[in-house]
Amino acid sequence: DLPVIYAITPTYARPVQKAELTRLSHTLMLVPNLHWIIIEDAEDPSPLVANLLKNSGIRYTHLTAATPKEWKLKEKESNWKKPRGVLQRNTALQWIRNNLKVDVHRGVIYFADDDNSYSLEVFDEMRDTQMVSVWPVGLAGGLMVEMPVLDPKTGRVKGWNSAWQPQRPFPLDMAGFAINVSHFLKHPEAKFSFNVARGYQESEILRHLTTPDQLEPKADNCTKVYVWHTRTEAPKLQSEKDLNKKGLKSNAGME
Ligand code: UDP
Ligand code: MN
Repeated sequence: DLPVIYAITPTYARPVQKAELTRLSHTLMLVPNLHWIIIEDAEDPSPLVANLLKNSGIRYTHLTAATPKEWKLKEKESNWKKPRGVLQRNTALQWIRNNLKVDVHRGVIYFADDDNSYSLEVFDEMRDTQMVSVWPVGLAGGLMVEMPVLDPKTGRVKGWNSAWQPQRPFPLDMAGFAINVSHFLKHPEAKFSFNVARGYQESEILRHLTTPDQLEPKADNCTKVYVWHTRTEAPKLQSEKDLNKKGLKSNAGME
């Protein structure tokens, strides 16, 4: 049997949410042996997400974890001011700790944000991760591609090409690594935190799980891009707001 990919996706209600989740679900539907853990940043599960999961045919777990008010981004606030997805990802990791057993559940953990763009190859590459694997991520950290740099003699990671905060212990994007489930379960302290500097979430979890020289390079020795850190522009909805003032909605009666 193929090891299971546990794809962890935080998501939150906004005009583009259904479009993002449709796009992502249609990618994940094509991935064999995948278990989608989706965590809504909300008090209660929404019918929109519940219906989408049910109709996808993907194996899934639907959780909720509302970001505490003091950590929630305000509508006009720049997104870098606060970390995003911290509590949601930790909630999924706790579910894994509560439901999976070392050496019984063969699989890997991958943090799949709802707005990125994924090639199917990235899932093939991560599936046989022994501890922690890494690969290039397109459109990340202010570069066309942000990636590990390998030592040509040993084939191991000897550095990074990162331009943004390159002094970080692991200067890579959330979409650029996967963790073996059994290995993860042996490190109960591995999680994300609100109390780390901007850009240090990846380093925060990985410091408990690996060292740079132990990383397993994937994607043809980190020469291929199979995932992109795309971000979706917030749509302009002025006409919708004008309608709303008159008590009308363009999508009345529609999900
Ligand atoms: N997210 C969330 N609550 C929020 C903001 C973001 O659950 O208040 C989710 C979002 O849906 C995504 C992940 O957290 O899956 C990362 O957020 P985002 O894509 O906005 O971050 P960025 O791309 O800027 O790193
Ligand atoms: Mn994003």
